[in-house]
Amino acid sequence: MFERVALIGAGLIGGSIARAAKAQNLADKIVVTARSPASRARVAELGFADEVVESNADAVKNADLVILCVPVGACGDVAREIAPHLKEGAIVSDVGSVKGTVLRDLIAHLPANVHTIPAHPVAGTENSGPDSGFAELFINRWCILTPPADADAAAVEKLAAFWRALGANVETMGAEHHDLVLAITSHLPHLIAYTIVSTADELEGVTQSEVLKFSAGGFRDFTRIAASDPTMWRDVFLTNKDAVLEMLGEFQEDLSKLTRAIRRGDGETLFDHFSRTRDIRRGIVSLGQETASPDFGRPHANLPKTS
Ligand code: NAP
Repeated sequence: MFERVALIGAGLIGGSIARAAKAQNLADKIVVTARSPASRARVAELGFADEVVESNADAVKNADLVILCVPVGACGDVAREIAPHLKEGAIVSDVGSVKGTVLRDLIAHLPANVHTIPAHPVAGTENSGPDSGFAELFINRWCILTPPADADAAAVEKLAAFWRALGANVETMGAEHHDLVLAITSHLPHLIAYTIVSTADELEGVTQSEVLKFSAGGFRDFTRIAASDPTMWRDVFLTNKDAVLEMLGEFQEDLSKLTRAIRRGDGETLFDHFSRTRDIRRGIVSLGQETASPDFGRPHANLPKTS
């Protein structure tokens, strides 16, 4: 599909794209770089890139697809650095979890003779670094493309075809709308998980060992989300501030309603609320975005070996 694909950043997402693109034979050459010498050395050891190079500029030379797989807050600087070295007609994309600021940062720095098409694969785990990626990460997950209004349709379709070949379903929407949707489906849940885990950590009447011992009561699922990469999530909340604050306002209102129902012993309100949310969960399972089995049921999860 492409002659030379350059991946800048080789963590969970960059490493998974490289592995999946290699498995599907989507590029003659996959060139990878990472910020630190340690990560670059590890990528070379793991062997999921055809070539590991030391600089972002070297990575993008002659590449017909360039994907920035770095934290959202780093996209502007990387775009500025690679701009003079890009091949005319190249597609330049990213994988950031926030799209409004990334689109602005990329457009501000990239030349007009490349196709700037931001993207967000809605797939992930709490792990990071070169070892964490795996080729199946994107299978049956969504990848959202947020092209600028004047994007070239053929280039958008080519990038969509690349993501479909990695196993993803592709949808296109405006960057601002993406940020609103993801604020409720991803960013707020992470904020709640980060909060609840630190609240449990600071409790006085319950010991730490009790929290850990009885974590299967629900707490454990929050700890998985709260283990997500601090740099990535700091950048998400700094760059999607308005949408997150809007969703947080809605959430606080709903939390107040439930708090009032508990205080008043209003079982009917609680029952109705929990019935509605159970239906939402069943909808997610029936859409294939989760299995009904516990522990997230993902093939890569650390499940006990059966043999
Ligand atoms: P990751 O595993 O931590 O990998 C990040 C990569 O970016 C590493 O290669 C790192 O290099 C490099 N990097 C970090 N800071 C940098 C900087 N300031 N300048 C240049 N390179 C830098 O992260 P990830 O989970 O793959 O996330 C990458 C992007 O994917 C983020 O924008 C995130 O929003 C998005 N995303 C993540 C998920 C998820 O679940 N994790 C899901 C969808 C999208 P070193 O290893 O040398 O530090």
